[in-house]
Amino acid sequence: MFDTNSIIWFNGKLVRASEVSLSVFTHAVHYGTAIFEGCRAYNGKIFKCDEHSARLINSGVLIDVPVGYSKEELSKAAYSVLDANGLRDGYVRPFAWRGDENLGIKSYANSVNVAILAWSWPSYFGPEKLSEGLKLSATKYVRPDPRSTQTQAKASGLYFVGSIMQNKCKNEGYDDVLMLDWRGYIAECASCNVFFIKGDEIHTPIADCFLNGITRQTVMDIARGLGYRVIERHIMPQELGSFSEAFTTGTAVEIMPIGEIFDSFNYSKRDVTMRIRDEYLKMVNR
Ligand code: PMP
Repeated sequence: MFDTNSIIWFNGKLVRASEVSLSVFTHAVHYGTAIFEGCRAYNGKIFKCDEHSARLINSGVLIDVPVGYSKEELSKAAYSVLDANGLRDGYVRPFAWRGDENLGIKSYANSVNVAILAWSWPSYFGPEKLSEGLKLSATKYVRPDPRSTQTQAKASGLYFVGSIMQNKCKNEGYDDVLMLDWRGYIAECASCNVFFIKGDEIHTPIADCFLNGITRQTVMDIARGLGYRVIERHIMPQELGSFSEAFTTGTAVEIMPIGEIFDSFNYSKRDVTMRIRDEYLKMVNR
């Protein structure tokens, strides 16, 4: 997947990935003081590039990792990485982290570094999952109360639970987890949002303690445009049997049907999911 010969953008310059090494004293490695983005390029165009750049800056504000570049500068840099690597389709990963000057827990005295990487990543879950649908497991971990962390920051420190869960899924034959929040409502998967279909209604959890995905917002607009009623509300796990279809959304994942949840709820219909997916793919390829 990664090529150390690829060109990355690092603190304002294009360099080879192999020329950059991180110190073992890096604050972000010890304490999770890093933020990142995930963008996708289609036919040479990064979908909602400025929104991703703006979200990176905002994540930095939320966890005190000031990025120090404008939205426009970050977007331009993202395109320069794509061009330098001759990529027209691929995944772009901007990130920023606190450097290695100090290793006390406070981070303000550490530099902020910014890098942008790009690589080809055609399918997150594998094309066969489009027909099978994803198999989602339960987990004992919950999305945290917003009083315990910055839930709208795309911050590295918030991802280790997702990482543990994905490892467990792999060992147990699942594709992903469906997490509840601290109140017991359905929240999201490890790195994507969720939607459920009931007739001409599309239900999705309120993003009040997890990332309000850019794809999630795009899909809600698409669904409304197609005439569906989009309902953001608290959804209880006991309701999962009342939906006819379910799908996940995310930049890397795009739109993927869900086939089974918690070994109990099966969704074999794909009509609405595929209709929305087709519209999404049309939009990103425009
Ligand atoms: N939730 C989490 C935890 C994520 O990591 C992502 C991927 N960025 C999403 C949701 C979906 O966000 P987006 O649609 O902006 O990619």
